Amino acid sequence: MKKIILTLFLVSSAVIFFSFEKKKDVHKAGIRTLIIDPGHGGLDPGARGTFSTEANVSLAVSLKLGAAIQKEFPEIKIVYTRTTDIVPGNGNSVEDGLYYRADLANESKGDLFIAIHCNSAGRAPGGWYGKRVSHYTTATRKVKVKKKWVTKTVKVPVYETYWIENKAMGTETYVWAVNKNDAKINSVSKNNDYTGEIDSTTTLTLPDPSDPAEKARMLVYAQNYFRKSLNFADLIQQQFAATGRIDRGVKQRNDKGIWVLQATGMPSVLVEIGFISNKEEEEYINSEKGQDEIVNNIITAFRVYKEKLDQKASNNVE
Ligand SMILES: [Zn+2]
Repeated sequence: MKKIILTLFLVSSAVIFFSFEKKKDVHKAGIRTLIIDPGHGGLDPGARGTFSTEANVSLAVSLKLGAAIQKEFPEIKIVYTRTTDIVPGNGNSVEDGLYYRADLANESKGDLFIAIHCNSAGRAPGGWYGKRVSHYTTATRKVKVKKKWVTKTVKVPVYETYWIENKAMGTETYVWAVNKNDAKINSVSKNNDYTGEIDSTTTLTLPDPSDPAEKARMLVYAQNYFRKSLNFADLIQQQFAATGRIDRGVKQRNDKGIWVLQATGMPSVLVEIGFISNKEEEEYINSEKGQDEIVNNIITAFRVYKEKLDQKASNNVE
């Protein structure tokens, strides 16, 4: 009898334990903590437009995005990597800021990481002056023909300076490229006029796959977070396109500029909300209307992404 009671006790406690475990999983599957990371800040203004900086536009959009998400989902905890114009964590370098971003996201146990940046391309924001041949004129020159000097009429180009508008525009969303091949395919297949934002000024080193700890972290990202990051990035780009923005697509990269994406143990995307180097887009991303639209686009994508996660979680329970 004692044995039966003991067995019953063990079985029921196992049932309770496992159902508790499942509940914990459900909770885990949703989004409890969202990390919002306004790019750059402080000594690092990021790209410059004709009247604004990437750091400030990214901050404004990030704060609006956070407020909108908080309003719709009051149960979600939102953690910002910065809320003022500083290097996150008040660090002394760009690199300090990047490490702080990743550490804060991981320590806060984020379930999703969204970095907001502005793109830039070309030689100068707005545009620049170039030189080109406007027409030809003729001139006479003395040339030697068979040891004799003769006068010859030659064609001479006349140059003019002209304004070259900085035309690159549109949105793109980055995810960390799981393997180098992805990143390579991407860089050769896309527009030649523009190489995108690369924070090459930092001394940060990229993860070294021969280091077991770093390899493990990259593997965890690849197995658990890459697919989700890609899905979320795709949803964001769909929303931008639906609003009539130029959709430059989801891109995979693994340079230093997006190092922070794989350094965070969670799905993570980096959204380039527009080109600060393009006059028209600089105005748009600084305007109330533009910022509201961008926030709307990202929050719509977030809603769909979250619903899918919640659905999956409830399917697991049944
Ligand atoms: Zn940036």
